[in-house]
Amino acid sequence: MNLIFLGPPGAGKGTLAARAVEILGIPQISTGAIFRAAIAAKTPLGLKVKAIIDEGKLVDDETTVALVRERLSQEDTKKGYILDGFPRTIAQAEALATFSKIDKVVNFDIPDAAVIERLSGRRVCKNCGANYHVLFQKPKKEGICDSCGGELYIRDDDRSEAIQKRLEVYRAQTAPLIEYYRQKGLLVDVDARPAVEVVEENFKKALGLR
Ligand code: AMP
Repeated sequence: MNLIFLGPPGAGKGTLAARAVEILGIPQISTGAIFRAAIAAKTPLGLKVKAIIDEGKLVDDETTVALVRERLSQEDTKKGYILDGFPRTIAQAEALATFSKIDKVVNFDIPDAAVIERLSGRRVCKNCGANYHVLFQKPKKEGICDSCGGELYIRDDDRSEAIQKRLEVYRAQTAPLIEYYRQKGLLVDVDARPAVEVVEENFKKALGLR
């Protein structure tokens, strides 16, 4: 099954995608995580995108589409994949349609106020990328990842100016994809406000997995 996870930053796409990987046995492809890994490794791609990402703006379509196209040519995506954070513009969606066929688009719906609350308390593992929250999803030991023991940090783009910018960018450039995919009959809506266990149940119901 080829899936897209759509929704504003902080909607819980990454957290749910990590769970869906276990449920469906297909890989999660997060363009944001690929960019962050490139920044950490100081590759040419990382150096090119760091300032853009830190400000909460979007990386250009050409670079992002080329990255996803290459990733989707890899063997582990043959049985399906979850695109987490891609496409983010209509141009990206149109490019994607030329090299892969999407089965469903899951729209994680959440108001801005809840996004701000989530992003300002988010912590991410430096090592494996797992997400935590200082109130809603605490690690067992403060500052340490439950799964790999890595150090937790605050993403540069989770600072308040960058959060505002990312929300603006989402509403202007990414939210139009909701209608775009609804008109194609591919969209399923999931209320992203409840706790992650509830969102997971709603996700399974929406996809007919239970
Ligand atoms: P995310 O982890 O999905 O919140 O992405 C973090 C940042 O990476 C975004 O704010 C953008 O700067 C960049 N990014 C991730 N995915 C895309 C995309 N599909 N198109 C453009 N920029 C992206």
